[in-house]
Amino acid sequence: MAQVLIRALSKSFGSVDVLKDVSLDVGDGSFVVLVGPSGCGKSTLLRSIAGLEPVTRGSIDIGGRNVESLPPAQRDIAMVFQSYALYPHMNVRGNMSFGLRFGKTPKNEIERRVDEASRMLQLDSLMQRYPRELSGGQRQRVAIGRAIVRQPKVFLFDEPLSNLDAALRINTRVEIARLHKLLKTTMIYVTHDQVEAMTLAEQIVVMNQGRIEQAGKPLDLYYRPANLFVAAFIGSPAMNIVDGAIAGQPGSHKIGFRPEHARLAKSGLLQGTLDLVERLGETGYAYLRHPSGQQLIVEVRGEPEFDLGSTVGITVEPQHLHRFAANGSRL
Ligand code: ADP
Ligand code: MG
Repeated sequence: MAQVLIRALSKSFGSVDVLKDVSLDVGDGSFVVLVGPSGCGKSTLLRSIAGLEPVTRGSIDIGGRNVESLPPAQRDIAMVFQSYALYPHMNVRGNMSFGLRFGKTPKNEIERRVDEASRMLQLDSLMQRYPRELSGGQRQRVAIGRAIVRQPKVFLFDEPLSNLDAALRINTRVEIARLHKLLKTTMIYVTHDQVEAMTLAEQIVVMNQGRIEQAGKPLDLYYRPANLFVAAFIGSPAMNIVDGAIAGQPGSHKIGFRPEHARLAKSGLLQGTLDLVERLGETGYAYLRHPSGQQLIVEVRGEPEFDLGSTVGITVEPQHLHRFAANGSRL
């Protein structure tokens, strides 16, 4: 296990600055999830930690050791990618043990680790199968198993569930959470899926255009986003954000409220025309059109109370209103 300390890290590809002065502490044994829009630099940050990309400036320490000049193999990390890249001509056991076979690890120790990892990942009955005989989820579990047997100090995951269908994503997500509880190894996990981020992370790091916007506990980011970017990024459907003037506040402010914290009423903070109601079962989402043209989303429960096309109010309890200054920072 190891702490990872990143200090003032910058990375450029030619004239393009991809990481800009990134500093981050990843505690020993913690589970940190990097989220952010596509292209914001998540993979580049992870690859820099792994040693797959040289950094332009700044430092990276893993387990108290400065690693920028070390090759990936000497960094005590194991990385799991979105595409699992198993060897097609090797069975599960062969794939899981491959990385250890050329090192100093004795044969019986390799066997022991492979058996232990396969039990953890419920792969024991599949050890003789070849990758083509496995489902996508099973293949990704083999890729995770291959990482586990190396007993790294830090696991790096880059969108490991993105190639799986919805049900498998949930299963494998739960499996990874369980694995972290069991192994207690430091994990840094990249995803663009915020349900993964909210459910897996002890700490979420929200990135945007090569910078860290906010790092914190999932519920802190949800209840107290530091700025408009985080407010709009964390939560689904996204927070409604309106000009202050519209909500009877100073015009330069922005006011935010989440769909799940708003209710439809005869009158309220805002009024809008009810355009559409999406039912998901007991709950659903009402889409309203504010006279300014802006769309607002409100969570609804139970039977519909209002007719489509009618003018409806929105109420929000004051403690669920977020205020932001003109520059986007939280007030
Ligand atoms: P993310 O994983 O958040 O989607 P990446 O870290 O893959 O983002 O990429 C961040 C930015 O760096 C993107 O604009 C991408 O085009 C650019 N980039 C990544 N790798 C290279 C490379 N090898 N050469 C040039 N630009 C790159
Ligand atoms: Mg990426």
